[in-house]
Amino acid sequence: MTDPRGPLWRKNNNDHTCHWPGCDERVPARLWGCKRHWFTLPPRIREKIVKHYRRGQERSRDPSPEYIAAAKEAREWCLKHINGAENDSHN
Ligand SMILES: [Zn+2]
Repeated sequence: MTDPRGPLWRKNNNDHTCHWPGCDERVPARLWGCKRHWFTLPPRIREKIVKHYRRGQERSRDPSPEYIAAAKEAREWCLKHINGAENDSHN
């Protein structure tokens, strides 16, 4: 039987892909990324993301400026990490 709400439900089933550049693992919207990459991030960045995450922000598309800054920091860290710059961790 076809449920007319079905496709809509699926369209909004708020999961997304991992924020790690190049990773296309599907993760629940409330999580930043897949387990492997999440735990690759330094704790100080994970803390910021967790702290500033607002429940439902993925639906309202209205994350706080702090969350956006944290997500940006995470992304920049990832790119550095991928390029190997994090090996001389003077930070
Ligand atoms: Zn990932």
